[in-house]
Amino acid sequence: MTQVMASISLLGVRIDNVTMDGALSAIERFNESGAPHIIVTADASAIVVAQSDEEFRRIVNEADLVTPDSAGILLVSGWYGSRLKEKVSGVDLTVEIACIAAEKGYPIFLLGAAPGVAELAAENLKKRFPELNVAGTHHGFFENDEEMVRAVAESGAKVLFVAMGIPKQEKWIARNLDRLNVAVAVGVGGTFDVLSGRVNRAPEWMRKHGLEWAHRLASNPRKIGKVMTLPKFLWLVIVDRMFGSR
Ligand code: UDP
Repeated sequence: MTQVMASISLLGVRIDNVTMDGALSAIERFNESGAPHIIVTADASAIVVAQSDEEFRRIVNEADLVTPDSAGILLVSGWYGSRLKEKVSGVDLTVEIACIAAEKGYPIFLLGAAPGVAELAAENLKKRFPELNVAGTHHGFFENDEEMVRAVAESGAKVLFVAMGIPKQEKWIARNLDRLNVAVAVGVGGTFDVLSGRVNRAPEWMRKHGLEWAHRLASNPRKIGKVMTLPKFLWLVIVDRMFGSR
């Protein structure tokens, strides 16, 4: 797989120093090449998971593009060689790709989240981009991999969004990438929940100040496990910078 831009290695995990514009240009190149590409949107929990999940770490490090999807990652990136320029989140990337897909006329597929959610997310994207061609949608709680792979491969989609959470979505993509018949497959976590309107996104000022975690916790206290990965991430970074050799 080809690495497309400057990157840092954060606790052994590659993150590309990419802006939204840079990510979209890279995706255009991936689309033109026709070969299948995998994109990871890495947040702090991805870094934490990668510490103990070797398969996931390898997938991220070998991905075609790894975007920084966390204010925490941006915050500490300067300690790892270069300050990353911009947060490129799964939600924003999905919307921007949908916009380009509508303009250029290539089909997309939304796979993941609870039954009905991907359909709602697709409807809302189509309201925003009426020309958008949604080749297919499916929830993320299927049992038969083969049927799902065939459905995507036969849908004609060029870009596949997979929203089944880290690291399940990346593992699913990596396992099936060569048979999906798409140019780009991107793991986007809880994006369909947000785009469907089921989950409210943090207001812009909170996102700007890296407070998305506080909003997530306030709106759904059951997300405490996910939110707690942030202090764990920061702790790992501090220990690494004080005593580590990476
Ligand atoms: N999900 C899924 N299949 C599964 C497990 C989870 O489709 O087997 C969905 C879940 O419904 C949710 C998303 O994956 O929409 C995970 O969202 P979360 O914000 O927890 O993901 P993260 O951004 O942490 O990767």
